[in-house]
Amino acid sequence: MKILVINAGSSSLKFQLINMDDGDVLAKGLCERIGIDGRLKYTKKGCEQIVVDIPMPTHGEACRATTDYLVSAEHGVVSSMDEISAVGHRIVHGGEKLTKALLVTDEVKAELEKVIPLAPLHNPAHLIGINACQEVMPNIPHVVVFDTAFHQTMPEKAYLYALPYKYYTDYAIRRYGFHGTSHRYVSARAAEMLGKPIEELKIITCHLGNGSSISAVQGGKVIDTSMGFTPLAGLPMGSRTGDMDPAVLPFIIEKEGLNATELNDLMNKQSGVLGISGVSSDFRDLEVEAKKGHHLSQVALDMFEYSVLKFIGAYAAAMNGVDAIVFTAGVGENNIGLRERVIGGLSYLGAAIDPVKNDVRGVERDVSADGAKVRTLIVPTNEELVIAQDTMKIAQSL
Ligand code: ADP
Repeated sequence: MKILVINAGSSSLKFQLINMDDGDVLAKGLCERIGIDGRLKYTKKGCEQIVVDIPMPTHGEACRATTDYLVSAEHGVVSSMDEISAVGHRIVHGGEKLTKALLVTDEVKAELEKVIPLAPLHNPAHLIGINACQEVMPNIPHVVVFDTAFHQTMPEKAYLYALPYKYYTDYAIRRYGFHGTSHRYVSARAAEMLGKPIEELKIITCHLGNGSSISAVQGGKVIDTSMGFTPLAGLPMGSRTGDMDPAVLPFIIEKEGLNATELNDLMNKQSGVLGISGVSSDFRDLEVEAKKGHHLSQVALDMFEYSVLKFIGAYAAAMNGVDAIVFTAGVGENNIGLRERVIGGLSYLGAAIDPVKNDVRGVERDVSADGAKVRTLIVPTNEELVIAQDTMKIAQSL
């Protein structure tokens, strides 16, 4: 069975065609600058990426360009679209009602519409992407998979904010959590690597990339996670603040007269390690600058690491212990020094890293020191595979 995974943004559409027999990615790519001019970046398995300018006034043309390339004589990987069994759509926000992967129906679309106020930047684009893909591929099932779903097991004490309760009941203001497919994938892999049922394990999953979140997964269920009502909360990130005293906001509003949009931009796009360093939101750039002696680049990196350490400590406390700490995503998979320093600061828990085993990037591996009570694992994330697996299950059940 072959599944097409789609991740639609406001001006982009990412795709992967996965052969579910062996998990092989047959082709992947990105349509970008939708509504501006249009460009397709397309990589067939084992081939160089090609980049072509194709007019894409809407997501419809982007979806059409994608399917044209998937079946094309020169670049294609399937002989006809009939070989593709289903389409899985990544959706950032499912709110409180959409808590597991679902077949796209009119009711599901209506519910997605209702969730738009909670994810105004993402969900409208996802809906446009679903409609465009359904038009181009009307005869196969379309499935939606939510970033928020895995976190819906959190108890009230973890997901409520200490605002008057009516803000929860009236506006659904609460912690939702994001990167759920990634936390789910890496925690499941961790259990497999440890050879134990996930139901018996306490796992802390650290998804550290441009956007970062950490989750406490107890018995296979999330009991707490660092992102919140939006993906702004938790760790300081590439350009997002992470947690801070909320009273800073009215203070800035009074000082600088910012409106809500400007404030959102400040917190999401100008802050984090970019805001502190004044150099870059990219952790590699910061490492280069810090090595050259740029003080604020080093401070930004230190703040990030310190926050990772504190969240792990908090979640170990929340679960009364931890069996494994998992690192994933761009920074988690690749930053050897960060893993070593963070785990070094958790010796009191019984975590210890083997510097030789840890000297790898992007490889699935147990990097714990021999005999360490708490295991340290690197698990490259694979959100597309999770989406494809969920989609396949639903397609097969029809
Ligand atoms: P996104 O949240 O955009 O999916 P990624 O998971 O791709 O982000 O992570 C991007 C971050 O990972 C960047 O800040 C980048 O510097 C960092 N990164 C990628 N490769 C390396 C590496 N080899 N060493 C250190 N950091 C890396």
